[in-house]
Amino acid sequence: MKYLLSICLLAVTLMATSQTGGLFFPRNFEATYAKGCRGKDGKPGPNYWQNRSDYVIQVALNPKKRAVTGAEEVTYYNNSPDTLKMIRVKLLHDLYKKGGQRNQDIRPSDVTDGVVLHKVAINGAAHPEKSQYRHDAYVDLRLAAPLPPKSSLRLSFDWSFTMPSDPKATRECVCDPTTFFVPYFYPEIAVYDDLHGWASAPYNGLQEFYHDFSNYDVTITTPKGYMVWATGEWQNANDALMPTYLDRWNRAHSNTDITPIFSETELKNGSVFKKRKQHVFHYTAADVPDFTFAASDHYNWDATAITVDDRTGRRTFVSAAYDSKSKDFYRVARIAADGLRLMSTWLPGYPFPYPCLTVFNGNDGMEYPMMINDESVDEDEVTELTVHESAHTYFPFMMGTNEQYYAWMDEGWANFFHFYVSDSLEHKQGRIWAGGFGNDWEAPPMVPSRFLSGPAYSHAAYTRPQLAYMQLYDLLGHETFSRCLHAYMDRWKGKHPGPYEFFYTFNDVSGKNLDWFWKAWFFDWGYPDLGISAVTKDDAEPRQLIHIERRGTIPTAVHVEIEYADGDKETIHKSAEVWNTAETTIFLRGGTGKVIKKVKLGHRTIPDSKPKDNTWQL
Ligand SMILES: [Zn+2]
Repeated sequence: MKYLLSICLLAVTLMATSQTGGLFFPRNFEATYAKGCRGKDGKPGPNYWQNRSDYVIQVALNPKKRAVTGAEEVTYYNNSPDTLKMIRVKLLHDLYKKGGQRNQDIRPSDVTDGVVLHKVAINGAAHPEKSQYRHDAYVDLRLAAPLPPKSSLRLSFDWSFTMPSDPKATRECVCDPTTFFVPYFYPEIAVYDDLHGWASAPYNGLQEFYHDFSNYDVTITTPKGYMVWATGEWQNANDALMPTYLDRWNRAHSNTDITPIFSETELKNGSVFKKRKQHVFHYTAADVPDFTFAASDHYNWDATAITVDDRTGRRTFVSAAYDSKSKDFYRVARIAADGLRLMSTWLPGYPFPYPCLTVFNGNDGMEYPMMINDESVDEDEVTELTVHESAHTYFPFMMGTNEQYYAWMDEGWANFFHFYVSDSLEHKQGRIWAGGFGNDWEAPPMVPSRFLSGPAYSHAAYTRPQLAYMQLYDLLGHETFSRCLHAYMDRWKGKHPGPYEFFYTFNDVSGKNLDWFWKAWFFDWGYPDLGISAVTKDDAEPRQLIHIERRGTIPTAVHVEIEYADGDKETIHKSAEVWNTAETTIFLRGGTGKVIKKVKLGHRTIPDSKPKDNTWQL
């Protein structure tokens, strides 16, 4: 039977593979692949390009007025083969503008004029307001002289806005009257890419972001008494900190234990900083997809340094900045550092790419390059949350994915990494909820995220892709999976991979045509459901056969625990690969001469939308 069964499986597998007509491919992507920007092997093509900017920003925070005021010089490089007739600029605080689009209610008192532009200039000349078009939290600047390929222009902005008072505001906060997490604070050039041209998804507070890789040189001014944490490396610590604290800050850069750099009391009693009327913090970051900062006059600061690359000895400086009232944040620097170590060496097994990471005790769970805005949570959630937001450094920051279209290309991975990494740190990960699959509101991940909301968005962005990656991990095994993932990262870090770059790279590097798997998990409506249809006698051998039927369309691993009448137990596990056939039933063989008393199908890592048919009893 074993022999016969494998012959059957092999024949059906060959048939199914030869029948694969490839994945659905959108018409609007055809031209860029034909032009050699992207390859059907998953690699960037010889004509791949992307645009970028250099930002020099001076920004001031006025805590009393919740006001942010800035001046910015941007050099924008058009590396595309296209002549640009306009430059699209993101003004994300237009989320709060009267008449702005919003996915959720806001406090009426937080409705503002959005981002007020006091000055817009291009190459030093004032840009006329009549050539500016505000829409969807963007301003389009029509160019008097179009920007040809392989050229650059300088844009200058003076602007201001008021932060929302609601401490639960989405992804940012006036966390208390003197604590601020300030993202989206500067006019940022939108992405112009080979797949969609200018990014066009409105920012309504739900869908996340898409950025170019740019250089940032930012100075942040606050009243005295405030510390500012930000994206990038702090350039003027020598100039700002008193010797005791500078010494702690320096020591923390090479110490694997947690170093308290200052406490709330020390910050409040004025001993931390050199005497100044106001504080100016200078941060720089190269090749990052965004910049954000946070400030407080009464937070604690813990830091440590963890080796993230054993080959070079490179370390990442990990910080936690938090309110004394927080019940979990005293652990966060340690959790973040341990998480970075596991991610750098195990999953994804790729050195953490940034020199520093600060987890700030804010109001949400939101990632930014080198900065995280996390609320305080229960003891049993803090590891998962910290690891999740740290994992976003790989996706979408190191890998510049487009979250407005394909949020699963980052959220699914962040969920995948937090599942295994926090399970490894704490053994607390339970079964993943699979109840969303196959409802009328559920959409496959390839439906662009910008068109989804509510549970459809979260299921397509988080749950379904996380489970798909987990099934893929099981199917390929750690070694092949890591080889594929590392190839994908090597090929696309610092670039803009689309979904096909992920599918094609895994096909290319694994040497398997996984289109059947991609199709069911990412393109099609459906749900995973396996069931035990029967336990029968084998005709040829003194053993029993367990019939496992695939009743849903989404392929998952088969995991059964068998209890025999004599008290013995056995576990059989087959990856989802068994379903790369036209067959809907597979047969698992019980032990020779043994009578099966009970069979349990399933595992906490395997989703099954209809689990009622997962047990069989004599
Ligand atoms: Zn996330």
